[in-house]
Amino acid sequence: MALYVEKYGGTSVGTAERIQAVAETVAVSARQGHRMVVVVSAMSGETNRLLDLAAQVSEQPSSREQDVLLSTGEQVTIALLSMALENIGVPAKSYTGSQIKIITDDIHSKARIQSIEATRVNADLDEGRVVVVAGFQGVDSENNITTLGRGGSDTTAVAMAAALNADECRIYTDVDGVYTTDPRIVPEAQKLDRITFEEMIELSGAGAKVLQIRSVEFAGKYNVPLRVLSSFTEGFGTLITDEDSSMEQPLISGIALSRDEAKVTVRGVPDKPGIAYSILGPVSEAHIIVDMIVQNIGTDGLTDFTFTIPRADLDRCRELLEPVVKSLGAAEIIGDSDLAKISVVGVGMRSHAGIATTMFEALSDKGINIQMISTSEIKISVTVDKEYAELAVRTLHKAFDLGEEKNITACPD
Ligand code: ASP
Ligand code: MG
Repeated sequence: MALYVEKYGGTSVGTAERIQAVAETVAVSARQGHRMVVVVSAMSGETNRLLDLAAQVSEQPSSREQDVLLSTGEQVTIALLSMALENIGVPAKSYTGSQIKIITDDIHSKARIQSIEATRVNADLDEGRVVVVAGFQGVDSENNITTLGRGGSDTTAVAMAAALNADECRIYTDVDGVYTTDPRIVPEAQKLDRITFEEMIELSGAGAKVLQIRSVEFAGKYNVPLRVLSSFTEGFGTLITDEDSSMEQPLISGIALSRDEAKVTVRGVPDKPGIAYSILGPVSEAHIIVDMIVQNIGTDGLTDFTFTIPRADLDRCRELLEPVVKSLGAAEIIGDSDLAKISVVGVGMRSHAGIATTMFEALSDKGINIQMISTSEIKISVTVDKEYAELAVRTLHKAFDLGEEKNITACPD
C-alpha cells in the first residue's frame, strides 16, 4: 500500500458540491487501503475576499494579523472536507498548520517551512484515518501563525510528502497537467507526460503559474515525485521527476511568459568596485527577488545598471534606492513596467547548439525587439515590450515545433 499526499486547490474545493466530489475521489484511494494525507487550499476567491476585508479596515494591516486572517480560509475547507469524508463512511481528521506543528521562520506572508512534526499524522494514518491538512500556513517558534505566500498550499503538500516519505505528491488543480505553454495563448500547446524538476523550476520561475516554484524546488531537493492533474477530468496529468537518462529528451520542453516584471535602471553610476553591491544589497535585504541583471560597459567612468524585479515591488524598490542613488552620485532611477519576459526551457539545451540563434531569428522575423537577455544552462530568457508578449510566445512555440504531437529529439549518444 502506498502513501499519497494529495493537494486540492481553491477551484477544486470552490463549492460544497466540489468538496463532496473531492471526498469521493479521496475515498476511492482510501478504500483501496492507501494511506492518504490531503492538503487543501481555501475555497476559490476566499483569500482575495479576506485580503479585501483587511484593506477595508486598515491602510497598512500588520503582517501578523493578516496571516491570522488569511489562515482562516484553509481552516474552513479542512473542516468541510473531513465532514464530507466522514459522511461517506471514511474516517478523517482535520488539522491546521499550527496543530500539526508545521514550524516556519517568522517572515509573515512569505514564511518558509523549517520542520514538520510527523508523529500525530502517522498515528492517525496507522488508525486508518485520512488526515486533512490546511495548506499555506504554519506557526513560527513563538507560536505566531504564519502563511507561506500565495499558492503556498502546493508547498505545504510537498513538504508533507517529504516529511512523511510519501510515494507520490499529487497536486490536483483546474488544469490537466503541464503544457508546452499557456494554451490560452497558443491553442496548439501540448500536454507533457513528464518533465524534470529542473525544467519545471525554470518554467515556474519564468512565470508558468501551474505550481508555486518553491513547491517544485522542495520536491526536487527531497526527490518527491510530483504529479499535476485535474480534479475535474480523468487522466494521469504530468509527472515531474528526476531526469532519467533512458528518457528521450525533447530539445525544448516549454515556453513561459511572465507579465509581472518591472525593470529598474540606475543611470550614470560611477564605474568602480562595490557598485553592484551597494545597489542590490538593500534590494535583497528587503526580500525583493532580483532576476535579470545587466551592467553595461562604462564610458567616461560612468555606467548604467539595470535589473528586473516583480512588478509589485517596483515602488518599494524605488524608495529604497533613492538614498543610494544620492550617495553614489548617480544620475537617476528609471522604473519601467511595460515589459514581459519570455523564457524557453529544456534540458536538451545542454547538448544542442544553436537554440539561442533559432530564438533570436524567429523574434527578429516578426520585428520583435529584444531588450534584455539572460541564460542559464537550460533556459534562455528575453524581455520584450509587453505589447508583443503573446506574439513572441506564439512565434517561439512554432519555431521550436512544440505544437507537434510528438516533439521528441533522441538523446545524442
Ligand atoms: N489560499 C492561498 C492562496 O489563494 C493558498 C493557496 O491557494 O495555495 O494563495
Ligand atoms: Mg492555488
